[in-house]
Amino acid sequence: MRLTVFGSGDAFSGCGCNAAYGIDSSVLVDCGAPVPAMSRRAAFDLRTLRLVLVTHFHADHTFMLPIVLGAVAVTAELERPDLTIAGPSGIREYVLRLVGDGYGSHMQELIAERVSPRFVTLQDGSDEQLQGYRVRAHSVVHSLGPSLAYAISDTGGATVGFSGDSTLCPGLHRAINGCDLFVCECTGWDGPVPGGHMWRDEVASLVATYPATTFVLSHLAERRTLPGALIAHDLLSLDVVAGDRA
Ligand SMILES: [Zn+2]
Repeated sequence: MRLTVFGSGDAFSGCGCNAAYGIDSSVLVDCGAPVPAMSRRAAFDLRTLRLVLVTHFHADHTFMLPIVLGAVAVTAELERPDLTIAGPSGIREYVLRLVGDGYGSHMQELIAERVSPRFVTLQDGSDEQLQGYRVRAHSVVHSLGPSLAYAISDTGGATVGFSGDSTLCPGLHRAINGCDLFVCECTGWDGPVPGGHMWRDEVASLVATYPATTFVLSHLAERRTLPGALIAHDLLSLDVVAGDRA
C-alpha cells in the first residue's frame, strides 16, 4: 500500500496545500489540495480513482472535489469509471451542492451521466468493504459534526489511518488502534489551538501510547519536529507494509 500526501498544511497558514491524501492509485482521502495538478507529479492516476473518502465538510478538506470530479468526468467519455464517494451523513447532498455551486447544473449533469458516483454514508462503527479496501470509520470530536476518522486496510492487511480534524477523544484512539501508519493532525505546536484540533503535547501522548504505529504528522501550521514521528510535506510518498510495526 502506498500513501501519497497531496496536502500537508492546515486551513489558513499556507504551510502546505490543504488536506488530501492518496492510497495506491485508487483512493483519495479528503480533497482540499489541487489533486489533478499534484497527481501528475506523483504516481497517482486519476483515471484509476475508485474511492473518495471525506472526513468532514470543512472547506480545507473538500473544496477541490468539484475539480476532481470534473476531471474524472471530462476524461471518462469512453469508459464509465466505477467511483464510490463515502463520508458522514449528508455526503451526497453536500457533494452535489459543491458541484452545483462551483459549476452549475451542466457539470452536475455531466458527472451524473459519465461518472454516476455511488454515495455511501458512513458513521461511527462502520466497517465496510469499499472498492477492494476495508474501511472502518470512527466518530471524532471536531468543531463541525459529524466528523470521522478512518482506518483503511488493503487485501494484504496493511492499514493506514487518518485522524481528519480531531481533538483527543475515544474515537481517535479506536481509529489508531491496529494501524501500521497513522496520518495525524498536529495543528498547534506551542499550546492548545481553538476549533477542535490537537497540538504537539497531545500528539506526543499518542505517539507514546502506540509505539507500534508510525505517525505522520500533517495539517500543519508550521513544520517542526516531534521525536518518534515523521513530519509530512506535500508529495511525500511512503510504502505501508502489513504488520511492519517495529
Ligand atoms: Zn482542516
